Amino acid sequence: MTDYQGILNRIYDEIQPLLGQGKVADYIPALAEKDSHKFGMVIKLIDGSTFKIGDADEQFSIQSISKVLTLTTVVKESVDFLKTRCGKEPSGTPFNSLVQLEYENGIPRNPFINAGALVTTDQMYTNFNNPKRDFLKFVRKVSGDKDVSYNEKIARSEEQTGYRNAALVNLMKDFNNIDNDVDKVLDTYFHQCSLEMNCEQLCDTFSFLANRGVNPKTGERILSIRRAKRINAIMLTCGTYDAVGDVAYRIGLPAKSGVGGGIVALVPGELTVSVWSPGLDKKGNSLAGIKALELFTTYAENSIF
Ligand code: GLN
Repeated sequence: MTDYQGILNRIYDEIQPLLGQGKVADYIPALAEKDSHKFGMVIKLIDGSTFKIGDADEQFSIQSISKVLTLTTVVKESVDFLKTRCGKEPSGTPFNSLVQLEYENGIPRNPFINAGALVTTDQMYTNFNNPKRDFLKFVRKVSGDKDVSYNEKIARSEEQTGYRNAALVNLMKDFNNIDNDVDKVLDTYFHQCSLEMNCEQLCDTFSFLANRGVNPKTGERILSIRRAKRINAIMLTCGTYDAVGDVAYRIGLPAKSGVGGGIVALVPGELTVSVWSPGLDKKGNSLAGIKALELFTTYAENSIF
């Protein structure tokens, strides 16, 4: 049996010099309040065994990590979504870039950049009566935690400074790839991004993707095996913005990051692993978090490759 706690202890010691080196995202002012020296990490096996280190119980804003969950709710209802309204190729551009979107006629490269997530949210407006409420209900179900919530202060802070997201959604509306009201789509998108979790809640929430679409705690099927495979594949190829090649090379797992400093990754059939440290690298991924996951797959000798 792998000594996961020993591995976490070793990682924790080795990443110490990196803490404070990354830059906390301040383009959303409410995110800038977190201390870049924080670091937490959790490994959770499918059988529920849990290993933790550092600030693993502190909640943070999951930001873009929520894009995997919104996509999950949409592909359950709209099988053609990724054929018609959004692609599934890495963008090679920053997560909030506008340039490619105009060249490609308002069809986002993938659902894990901002433009793609905004179209996903628009599709939620078409599929559900009350997407903001229904999405939260879904997240509470998959996390097994009824206290998981939006952070209104962060959602409002992003709304007040979300000029790029407003530009993206309006550009796509002009290309007829947004069906609903742009302000409603933006409001729900900002709330999704403001969801707060700690590392363990994040592992719990993503465990259905590590377990062929079935929530290991309840036995409930959330997605078919085929769709779970597809979402994991998009995490591998598009989950860490324009650093996916480097992340596949160094870590070798499907992963999704957010500018709150969280990253969740998984080994299909075995475990979820999440890490949080708010200092970001130039691509917007947690600097210490990426290193910690690289050390994890190296010491555990476990990746999908
Ligand atoms: N809410 C953030 C934004 O729209 C999400 C980006 C991210 O986590 N990469 O800019």
